[in-house]
Amino acid sequence: MVRETVAVQEEPNDENEIILRPKRMADMVGQKEVMAVLQIAIDAAQKRNSPLGHILFDGPPGLGKTTFATCIPREMGATVQMASGPGLKAPKDLLPYLTNIELGSVLFIDEIHRIPKAVEEYLYTAMEDFRIDIVLGEGVNARTVNLPLKPFTLIGATTRAGMLSGPLRDRFQIREHLGFYSLDELTEILLRNAKKLQVNIKNDAAHEIAQRSRGTPRVANNRLLWVRDYAMSKADGQITLQLTHDALRMTGIDELGLDRQDRRYLETLIRVFLGGPAGIEAIAHTMNVSADTLVDEVEPFLLRSELIIRSPRGRCATPKGYKHMKYELPKAS
Ligand code: ADP
Repeated sequence: MVRETVAVQEEPNDENEIILRPKRMADMVGQKEVMAVLQIAIDAAQKRNSPLGHILFDGPPGLGKTTFATCIPREMGATVQMASGPGLKAPKDLLPYLTNIELGSVLFIDEIHRIPKAVEEYLYTAMEDFRIDIVLGEGVNARTVNLPLKPFTLIGATTRAGMLSGPLRDRFQIREHLGFYSLDELTEILLRNAKKLQVNIKNDAAHEIAQRSRGTPRVANNRLLWVRDYAMSKADGQITLQLTHDALRMTGIDELGLDRQDRRYLETLIRVFLGGPAGIEAIAHTMNVSADTLVDEVEPFLLRSELIIRSPRGRCATPKGYKHMKYELPKAS
């Protein structure tokens, strides 16, 4: 039994999210190499009867970092606490988590690259020596108390591995990068999830949704939920290829899986910045969205699809990007 001590800033308590998220590592699809490394580490830790080493997952959003962080403690029969980097503003925000730690339990910190330096330094001794120094009192009466912690496992997740400082990164024994999923893997996830949602889906419809899901399970799940609703509202609830096309067209998701935001990015780059090079801040200002959102959520897929490139002078649309947006390539002058 896993007791989840969920405190501040946990993931959204969305009913569908709970139904669809795999409960065990065996229910997870893909990420075979990561899975193999983790299984060995878990197996060895169990044989040694000691906590698992600290683990860092990096990769774009929606690829399974949180899912791994909730499945691993289940494999270990351990409890898990969920925290989020932006919620840990000062060392004192870590205290409720650290003092709640049980032997072998997991502390998951999402977006760990966003913790401030002071919190990070506090984590060093917690991770390395399983102890923390707490300052009690103020001014001349202040004294430092050394508090031992039970050995635990920190699981960090980040979409920006490059923003993590060297000393923090080095304190993770296992560092794994999560990559995008293949079409077959996403189709498999969709077929399994349709079962969980108790909806009937044709294989070709699942394949079509997978094709438009940008290699990302979270995107695939969201598309599936929308197509399910569409099929229920417009037909008898069975998801066919035709209904899938109609449903996705209605929300502006094209055959490559680009959504309206992706297309707006490309359109802005081509029309306003004449195809680039353009700086990310300039693009973000014009689109009126944050640069972080573009870097984390929009660009990885556009880069991977070779619709844009990132050059030292800024972002540029590729000939494929022009073609996809049905713009003519400017003539070389
Ligand atoms: P991240 O933490 O990397 O942003 P999540 O772990 O929250 O991503 O994954 C988003 C959703 O995608 C999960 O709720 C789960 O339903 C699905 N998912 C992620 N990885 C897998 C996987 N390997 N197999 C099946 N479903 C997955």
